[in-house]
Amino acid sequence: MKLVSCSEAGRSFAGLWRDGRVLDLAAAGRHVNEAADLGGMLSIIRGGERAVAALQRIASRGDEFSDLWLDADRVKLLAPIPVPVRNVFCVGRNYVDHVKEGYARSGTETKLPEVPQFFTKATGAVNSPDGDVRLDTRLTRLLDYEVELAVVIGRGGRDIAAGSAFDHVFGYTVANDFTARDLQRRHEQWFKGKSLDTTCPLGPCIVDRAEIGDPATLELSLSVNGEERQRGRVAQMIFDIPTIIASLSAGLTLEPGDIISTGTPSGVGYAMNPPQALKAGDLVVARIDRIGELRNRIVEVRLP
Ligand code: MG
Repeated sequence: MKLVSCSEAGRSFAGLWRDGRVLDLAAAGRHVNEAADLGGMLSIIRGGERAVAALQRIASRGDEFSDLWLDADRVKLLAPIPVPVRNVFCVGRNYVDHVKEGYARSGTETKLPEVPQFFTKATGAVNSPDGDVRLDTRLTRLLDYEVELAVVIGRGGRDIAAGSAFDHVFGYTVANDFTARDLQRRHEQWFKGKSLDTTCPLGPCIVDRAEIGDPATLELSLSVNGEERQRGRVAQMIFDIPTIIASLSAGLTLEPGDIISTGTPSGVGYAMNPPQALKAGDLVVARIDRIGELRNRIVEVRLP
């Protein structure tokens, strides 16, 4: 199932995405007397297995809801969780080639991380799958991109064992961890340079865990103005998803709807020779097969 959050005529709702159309899940649920709250993505996720079972019943009867399907061009897609409850958890430096390109840039010997490197992006950074990304040149001259697989937590928990980590995954989406490299360095801490408004597009949908199966088979790619910059496979992660969930949840309770972005493969702009920064007008397309793509235009902030 591909699940989306969208708005139509000022109303926001969670939908099932299929063949270029969106089914309003709450309306479909009422139609067939489902008790689960399907009105928004967070309610669905918090509804646990009961809500997922209701979604599966609705998805299997999709043809019965003929007048509840909307053509995609009538709705605006939002981030699948438009306002996360708390910051987006992120893993830095989780692909060997990306770690290597960072060290090559600084001219020092490559040292791989021994444990996952966690940081977060502020909730206000979350952006829709086709939202403009602000470029404020007073703040940054080195805006960069990072295509990433993001995991959406279903059942929460603390001290989750790697062996049962996938039981806590609701599904997967695409993230672009836009980063102001110069701010990241200047503040000697990643949060500021990773948390500017609009710099965390998510979407276009959440694909449920059962449909993805083994996420290691997924392939990520990113292009700028049609030129491919990044291509990698989730299987190349240094710390795989169970390891990330086990490490993050050690002594730290994960909640339903938490988002964990799992790191980016090589090909980022700052590691190119010479380094490439995003410019106003650039179109950045981040794609993961079987999930979809984010299409974000870089728009320079007009100064007063
Ligand atoms: Mg990243």
